Amino acid sequence: MNDILPDVSGTWRYLESVVREIVQSYGYSEIRLPLLEYTELFQRSIGEVTDIVEKEMYTFLDRNGESLTLRPEATASVVRAGMTNGLLHNQRQKLWTSGPMFRYEKPQKGRYRQFHQFDVEALGYGGPDVDAELIVMTARLWRRLGISRIELQINSLGMPESRQRYRTALIEYFNGVKSGLDEDSIRRLEQNPLRILDSKNPDMQDIVAAAPVMLDYLDEASSGHFEGLRALLDAAGVAYTINPRLVRGLDYYSRTVFEWVTDALGSQGAVCSGGRYDGLVEKLGGRPTPAIGWAMGIERFVALHEACGGEVPQQNADVYIAAVGEGTLARSFELAEELRDRIPGIRIEINLGGGSFKSQMKRADKSNATYALILGEQELDEGRIGIKPLRSKAEQESVALDKLAATLRKRLN
Ligand code: ATP
Ligand code: MG
Repeated sequence: MNDILPDVSGTWRYLESVVREIVQSYGYSEIRLPLLEYTELFQRSIGEVTDIVEKEMYTFLDRNGESLTLRPEATASVVRAGMTNGLLHNQRQKLWTSGPMFRYEKPQKGRYRQFHQFDVEALGYGGPDVDAELIVMTARLWRRLGISRIELQINSLGMPESRQRYRTALIEYFNGVKSGLDEDSIRRLEQNPLRILDSKNPDMQDIVAAAPVMLDYLDEASSGHFEGLRALLDAAGVAYTINPRLVRGLDYYSRTVFEWVTDALGSQGAVCSGGRYDGLVEKLGGRPTPAIGWAMGIERFVALHEACGGEVPQQNADVYIAAVGEGTLARSFELAEELRDRIPGIRIEINLGGGSFKSQMKRADKSNATYALILGEQELDEGRIGIKPLRSKAEQESVALDKLAATLRKRLN
């Protein structure tokens, strides 16, 4: 679990604001959710035989003996919230949420126990059009930020009936190569053979690569859905590769699954993953409701942005006020408040803790402010103030106090 320190929090805030802006421009609204849910919600939605439920959840009994879990992902909570608040009653919902998720994983670069996701969900939408929209908006995000080292992989998992036939074929195949399977996979063989395809064990990769593929077992309607998605992506100019091994780590997916992967971050290459989960609402006790969503790992997103040389707008102060001499501190407070009134958004730091002129100017320089405003006793008497550019060789100028706001507005433009 990491502290996000001031030297990177500005980058986080900026990148989160760009995602938020893009997602909202497609008509998605924010939903804020609790960090804790009943454990049962995740057991039922994510599935018992998954990495998350088997070994990654932070689960505990509360004072009332109820089993609660720190959310490992957001989709289950979004669906739960949609149901408990009646948001899915003859309505469709386009929602986004973001925040920390918790998984008891082996920590390594790009894999943490508290990490953050940005999550987008469309509930009540069954067609490939919304699948395409959700992907197109992520493509826009990469374009907007100049992120290039990323590739889209898509696959279809079909509907439960066709997946059942595929499951039978998989069990048959894996049984034939059983001596090469690891312990986890042998255990999953009967319960959830699809999960074996999701194995992270390098020794299993050859066996997984030779397994039958779901696309050969797709039902006709799911094939049509997949074709529809591909046609819309082609029309939108979003390139993709079909990865028949892409199954995703959670149980609830059906039809479309996709993942944006990068080679820039070592082995933790999945930056944004999504898929359709048409059966989940019903499984949790609601009416049949088709739905699809994606989740982006913010740590990996931030790292990828940096790896692609991404820039972040400066967060430095605009002005640093140095005040030396009798009465100048109170006057600089007054001036700062006035400037904050008259130049919305201006970032002003007042020198706190006194000090000589020299030490105040040193702090001004360290603050990375664009200008120092210098107020001494003489300036105070004359009703003037010094404006000293700190980031250029330009000369210091002296302006009348009643012209300060107008002058700064021009300089900061
Ligand atoms: P992985 O295959 O890397 O374990 P996952 O399939 O478990 O990922 P999802 O549950 O789909 O991932 O979560 C969506 C996104 O959240 C991932 O694409 C990734 O960017 C990010 N993510 C998942 N787990 C972690 C983690 N422990 N630390 C940081 N980011 C994570
Ligand atoms: Mg995982």
